[in-house]
Amino acid sequence: MPNTSTAREAERLAMVEDQLRARGIRDRRVLEAMTTVPRHEFMPVEQAPAAYEDRALPIGEWETISQPYIVALMTEGAAVRPGDRVLEIGTGLGYQAAVLAALDARVYTIERNAQLAEQARQKLSALGYAVEVITGDGTDGYRPAAPYDAILVTAGAPRVPQALVDQLADGGRLVIPIGSRALQQLHLLIKHGGEILDRTLEACQFVPLVGKQGWPQEYWPRFFG
Ligand code: SAH
Repeated sequence: MPNTSTAREAERLAMVEDQLRARGIRDRRVLEAMTTVPRHEFMPVEQAPAAYEDRALPIGEWETISQPYIVALMTEGAAVRPGDRVLEIGTGLGYQAAVLAALDARVYTIERNAQLAEQARQKLSALGYAVEVITGDGTDGYRPAAPYDAILVTAGAPRVPQALVDQLADGGRLVIPIGSRALQQLHLLIKHGGEILDRTLEACQFVPLVGKQGWPQEYWPRFFG
């Protein structure tokens, strides 16, 4: 079971009220999960004082931990039910994965940066979140555990990788930021039989999804240089 520490709980409650509920996040289970997961544990210690601020924060390796509101919006869009099989692409240090685990989903998460993947694996396990962290290019999805009830891509993609659509279960939801390297629109795709419903949620800014079906490696990390 995840550790039930109440450290910084007042800040989390304020985050949930002022950043999530105030902006229209309604799913009670998502709000509860984000009240319990200790966000400050999923970042380098020097960033921890700012953990509950309304923004993304650097986690090293030119990567970021997503803004709380975006994590909530993606999680709500993914409509995760207990026991759902969920795949995340872009683990970072594991915060979004912990939120999905707190919703009692069976969580698989892929990270291309081996150093971040290892840190996330250790952190999630130390805090008691049962999450499988895979090191590799997530643009191919992860076949051994497919199909998925939900897939969340937490890096900005130039287009929807076909492997991810293929690995969705019937009724499955795919939440993915699509656009340029600097600015994307968050899309919610729902698979119904052979049909894909595509809804645009809102504008967002993620670090690039780098891989076979993402942005080419050579744009990275020069993009931020
Ligand atoms: N989900 C994280 C945010 C991660 S930032 C959170 O909860 O805070 C995006 C992450 O995607 C980075 O760590 C980056 O290394 C990773 N990434 C980029 N392209 C990837 C790919 N093709 N496969 C797996 N991970 C990728």
